Amino acid sequence: MTFVTRFAPSPTGPLHLGHAYSALVGHDMARAAGGHFLLRFEDTDLERCKPEYVDQTIDDLTWLGITWDAKPLMQSETLDFYNQAVERLSALGLTYPCSCSRKDIAAALAAPQEGVAHTVYPQTCKSRKMAERNDNDASRLHMDRACAALPDTTLGFEELGGLKKGIYPIERESLISDVGDIVIGRKDIQTAAYFLASALDDIRQGITHVVRGIDLFEFTQVQVLLLKLLGHTPPLYYHHGLIRDENGKRLAKRDDARAISLYRREGVTPQEIRLMVGL
Ligand code: GLU
Repeated sequence: MTFVTRFAPSPTGPLHLGHAYSALVGHDMARAAGGHFLLRFEDTDLERCKPEYVDQTIDDLTWLGITWDAKPLMQSETLDFYNQAVERLSALGLTYPCSCSRKDIAAALAAPQEGVAHTVYPQTCKSRKMAERNDNDASRLHMDRACAALPDTTLGFEELGGLKKGIYPIERESLISDVGDIVIGRKDIQTAAYFLASALDDIRQGITHVVRGIDLFEFTQVQVLLLKLLGHTPPLYYHHGLIRDENGKRLAKRDDARAISLYRREGVTPQEIRLMVGL
């Protein structure tokens, strides 16, 4: 089996050291295995994604010595493809329309869950039917039905290395209580949300190994669930550690101080970037 991996940034800001690390790890693994390295821009959020960040990402990656083996996939160019998957899940009776705003959701939760990155949806719209969906509604996954609809009784994903090793089991109970009814079709542009679009593209691009940061580890179980519901075999996963700032915080896009473009302007070399991220 040829090793195929990808780097899949959302072009909402400049690449920083954390992205460089992720891209280099995946690229090095692909080249060492004699496999393929692909690029995908996760730009379905048409408001926050900007073409200039696509151009700059390509320029920074090239400068880092990274090459890719096919034309980059732009998610914004194939929105229909994702909609078909939302429709398939809907046809299986696994979705419901939701008109709640973030504010509605916060108000419906008696005690906002502090420290929990992902707010579990309070199921306000759960009794609604897809036939009543209008253009201002998002589509949510009916998580309990989705878990019950899985064709196989075991659910897990293979983790290659990183922090966790081997087969990582997915608990249906925790998907229902801790992850809940996630949005899979967004209301604004009537297309699939991140979880679904990204997982589908890993299949479409023939990715055998997903190489990405440990911050996405918790999302993997949802993506594996969605892929299995749609009849796909999930790839293997490798979640690497994160590059943190001096206070131990994960770097974010707004951390311009660590933007690759800034280091470039200061005369830092690609080799020095590799050393900085511990490669
Ligand atoms: N687009 C995601 C991000 O920029 C990465 C998704 C992935 O690697 O699976 O954080």
